[in-house]
Amino acid sequence: MKFKNLNRQYQTLKPAIDQAVREVLGSQDFILGEHVRKLEKELAAFTHRRHCITCASGSDALLLSLMALNIGPEDAIFLPDFTYIAAASAVQRTGAIPVFVDIDPVTFNMDPQDLECQIERIRKTTRFHPKAVIPTDLFGLPADYGRILPLAARHGLHVVSDAAQSMGASFQGQPAGSFGTLAITSFFPAKPLGCYGDGGAIFTDDDRLAARLCRLRSHGRAAHSKYLHVQAGLNSRLDTLQAAILRCKLQAYAPEEQRALQQAARRYASGLKGVVQIPAVMPGQISAWAQYTILLYDANQRRQVQQALARNGIPSMVYYPAGLHEQPLFRDLPRPPQGYPRSEWVSQRCLSLPMDPYIREAEIDLICRVITETILGKDSKREGEDAHGRKPGV
Ligand SMILES: *Cc1c(COP(=O)(O)O)cnc(C)c1O
Repeated sequence: MKFKNLNRQYQTLKPAIDQAVREVLGSQDFILGEHVRKLEKELAAFTHRRHCITCASGSDALLLSLMALNIGPEDAIFLPDFTYIAAASAVQRTGAIPVFVDIDPVTFNMDPQDLECQIERIRKTTRFHPKAVIPTDLFGLPADYGRILPLAARHGLHVVSDAAQSMGASFQGQPAGSFGTLAITSFFPAKPLGCYGDGGAIFTDDDRLAARLCRLRSHGRAAHSKYLHVQAGLNSRLDTLQAAILRCKLQAYAPEEQRALQQAARRYASGLKGVVQIPAVMPGQISAWAQYTILLYDANQRRQVQQALARNGIPSMVYYPAGLHEQPLFRDLPRPPQGYPRSEWVSQRCLSLPMDPYIREAEIDLICRVITETILGKDSKREGEDAHGRKPGV
């Protein structure tokens, strides 16, 4: 079994993708070509935004966003302690300091109450100015924008939503990517909407920020002239080839693959409920299921479950084995006295299981059975029952 079976997706979409790739090769139009312009329009519609600016990766999308907002030394940027490194390292690149916020152990996302505490702490005990917050939609579940957006507005903070894992998700009817001054995503192959290499995008409704981002991704080049540079920028563009592939994938993703993901999540939930803590989806939220992440009783039980899965040829991953505050890169940052107890608690117990739109019911059932037997013992299911405790045909 594969952790993400991208090959099944390719076999399904092969005719469309192969044709799109051949067409780009025929046109020899490789950088910011017609497909990039069309993809940006389609993604802006998908996220209900005025503008989509594609770039070379999700990490660059974060860095470009902070550059467009003029984030720099003396600024403090708030982000969850339990997430991928990219946002924190982009903050450091600008000269600002990342300030980590503890998480809600049920949703794995930034805890708005701790966000408020950390803002107060930075204001009272350091010389840094709170400037922006970067909530992550971790594992595909949108952050608590209902509380984070008003809180950020009250403190005068920009919101840069990290939707790298949540394309296709929604919060109270609004799509991931639609929240905040800016939102970013990644097209890394294993993300919910992935290409065949690196790629990323930024979403905004602000015309001036959009124009600035277009300049920044092309070495600060003025819109009207090829060799007039008005700002220090990056070379960070999406290939035409990747854009052509992404347009095929976007068509397959909404709604067929999304529907398959919801079905897979429901099957996991009914197979694992009462055995482990299954991922929470709050009312009004739809997850993009970038990961299906369960919580075990402790690190020891996690090790046993991982080993049992491996013996059955089932891969599993620990996202993430440590909070960002535990990374050597951030050792010298000023720490809150209470530390990050919930982030550490989750990092010792979380386990992500195989999940993609093409996973088979029999595969999910096998995974649920191995986990249940490891935790409750072999006798936990009577003979002839499936992983859902039902007899065949019932
Ligand atoms: C993958 C990821 C990124 C970075 O995207 P790349 O395209 O790999 O640079 C940023 N944030 C989160 C939450 C991610 O999962």
